[in-house]
Amino acid sequence: MNSFKNTDKEYIANTYGRFDIEISHGKGSYVYDINGKEYIDLASGIAVNTFGMADNEWIEAVTNQLKKCQHTSNLYYSEPCATLAKMLCERTGAKKVFFGNSGAEANECAIKVARLWASENKGEEYYNIITLKNSFHGRTITTLAATGQDVFHKYFTPLTEGFLYAEANNLDSVEELLKQNKCSAIMAELVQGEGGVMALEPDFVKGVSELCEKYNVLFVVDEVQTGNGRTGALYAYQKYGITPDVITTAKGLGGGLPIGACLMFEKTKDTLKPSLHGSTFGGNPISCASAINILNRIDDSLLKEVNEKSDYIFDALNGADGIKSVSGLGLMIGIETVADVSIILQKCMENGILPIKAKNKLRLLPPLNIPMELLKKAVDIIKMVAKENK
Ligand SMILES: *Cc1c(COP(=O)(O)O)cnc(C)c1O
Repeated sequence: MNSFKNTDKEYIANTYGRFDIEISHGKGSYVYDINGKEYIDLASGIAVNTFGMADNEWIEAVTNQLKKCQHTSNLYYSEPCATLAKMLCERTGAKKVFFGNSGAEANECAIKVARLWASENKGEEYYNIITLKNSFHGRTITTLAATGQDVFHKYFTPLTEGFLYAEANNLDSVEELLKQNKCSAIMAELVQGEGGVMALEPDFVKGVSELCEKYNVLFVVDEVQTGNGRTGALYAYQKYGITPDVITTAKGLGGGLPIGACLMFEKTKDTLKPSLHGSTFGGNPISCASAINILNRIDDSLLKEVNEKSDYIFDALNGADGIKSVSGLGLMIGIETVADVSIILQKCMENGILPIKAKNKLRLLPPLNIPMELLKKAVDIIKMVAKENK
């Protein structure tokens, strides 16, 4: 097959460090490159392809909608976005949904909601939002400001004001910031994805939830990566047993099509009002039909499977030769190897599996329905590669 590598290098903005693999197509958990080499997909396009590549049922749901109506604008009512919003609310306890097209936009919405809510309930000066060090919340100027990592801030200052960074798993550090500043919200990923697949400690998350009550600030949970079944619950907050005031999600929600959502719970349900926010593509019928199909299939039996597969991976890799640690939740897993992660990743790809990286770790985000025998095969390859290169 023809290669478009040189065309890409010539014409695509040079922001991505691509691997030397040119993907042509896939089916389920298999992905193929232009030379016909077969890979087991362990990344799902960064937690996006929830049911793998070119899933038949999903194709049918999307093409049925495509034949009816591809876009309406938000000037009219239409069925798919209403149905999807209802499903999201019924399965989370949220009361209202705003649709955008990406994780960053979902977080932008949540940040606007937090500032609006504070203006109405506490005063405009309560605009500060506490996020965690090592977090990742997106690439817009404001979501970069929310991201608690200096490396992302360099060159782009001045960023949006009003973000403060606390230490993860350190309640005192959160409370200190709450005491000393006028705050509207605490915003956090429950499993820090880009930060190295670090699940927050349950006691810390419960403690943050209590601090939010005590100081009358919102708890905003960024479920862009952890959401939509990825951690073995529909949304990760459900595993932690807390009730957030806002959650944001994107990545896996559309199963491969762009969609982001900001879900507002009881305290924040009436915060957004006419003309205060909007999006041309938000709630697009194709993306919503796609997400309806995905959500319908993330049921108890699938979540049980996700948890079983997760247990299998942890059991197989914990303490294995050449592996230092395994972290994460559900099918969002970080693996610290004795050998440098770049070497491990290269060897994995040579051996026909496609994990990715998060900081110094190998990161696994396989399709949620990856067949057990494929997962076993992939885990065996990781074990072999970790051992041979230690
Ligand atoms: C990927 C990610 C984002 C940004 O999502 P985009 O769709 O790339 O804008 C935000 N937050 C978290 C936790 C993410 O993993």
